[in-house]
Amino acid sequence: MLKDTLLYLAQNPRLRDFVVQNKLTRNVSRRFVAGEVLEDALRATRALNDRGIQVALDLLGENVAIKEEAAEAMRDYVNAIELIARTQIDANISIKLTALGLDISPQLCEEYLNTILESGREHNVFVCIDMEGSAYTEQTVALASRARERYELVGTVIQSYLYRSHDDIIKLVDQGTRIRLVKGAYQESQSVAYQEKADVDRNYVELMHILLARGNFPAIASHDEAIIDDACRFVRDHGISKSSFEFQMLYGIRRDLQDKLVKQGYNVRVYVPYGSHWYPYLMRRMAERPANLMFVVTNALR
Ligand code: FAD
Repeated sequence: MLKDTLLYLAQNPRLRDFVVQNKLTRNVSRRFVAGEVLEDALRATRALNDRGIQVALDLLGENVAIKEEAAEAMRDYVNAIELIARTQIDANISIKLTALGLDISPQLCEEYLNTILESGREHNVFVCIDMEGSAYTEQTVALASRARERYELVGTVIQSYLYRSHDDIIKLVDQGTRIRLVKGAYQESQSVAYQEKADVDRNYVELMHILLARGNFPAIASHDEAIIDDACRFVRDHGISKSSFEFQMLYGIRRDLQDKLVKQGYNVRVYVPYGSHWYPYLMRRMAERPANLMFVVTNALR
């Protein structure tokens, strides 16, 4: 109930304006967001790299409705790739297709995506296409699959709460596309997605086994210790190398677990969001864990 309300409010422009303009909530958002400019993300990345952790840089922004804003997002993503190459930080990037104008025109979005992937190829930087709400799944899988035919360094995300994900994974794995597996962060109806956590978790483990056994350097993106333990057991029992996959977690969440996995010799990558459009991202993190809502409220009131 609380989760649904928070995910609903994530789309509310009036609450967004209030929260984003409020200095206190802006400060508190730093628990989950590296900062508003690329230099903040660079600083956070260096600190993570010093702990043996790789990074996925995510410029926050989604559902752009104006062509110029989509072009600006494309240029910002290219800047991030160039910064990674110039500074030699250990990072790749994550992008959202609706930030590149998917709502305006799929052709325009694909053109911008290809410009980013050209830059990724030139500078040897991998680009992951984030998965958004289910209204975009079909287009995202199709665009990622088409991009993979031309570019090596591209992958996408599959959400275990969707019924369709098994079929998508088989298709993408056969094509050699790199996949990040997540549970899914959006509000979805019963017609397309499992509603019970137990079903989402069970499907996650099934899909994870497919990826660990046959995937191209998959990313197991979760903070769920039972799932992480299962992955460690599965690779050990099947003689799968620790170097053939990576764990991924979100910035500011379960730092203890990140360090523990690095110490055990696993690859760990942390998703580092930055930028001024942090409101929907923060709301999704609160929906995942009510304690985060308490953290934001009590710190904002302090
Ligand atoms: P849960 O069952 O939600 O949580 C397990 C445990 O992890 C909790 O008990 C808690 O201890 C801890 N935990 C989980 N979330 C939080 C939190 N917000 N704050 C504090 N503790 C927490 N979703 C998409 O839909 N599309 C994407 O492209 C996408 N990319 C992602 C990239 C990365 C690297 C990660 C880690 C997640 C991404 N997600 C994405 C979000 C994902 O779908 C889940 O919503 C999120 O990871 C929470 O699920 P969980 O697997 O951690 O398990």
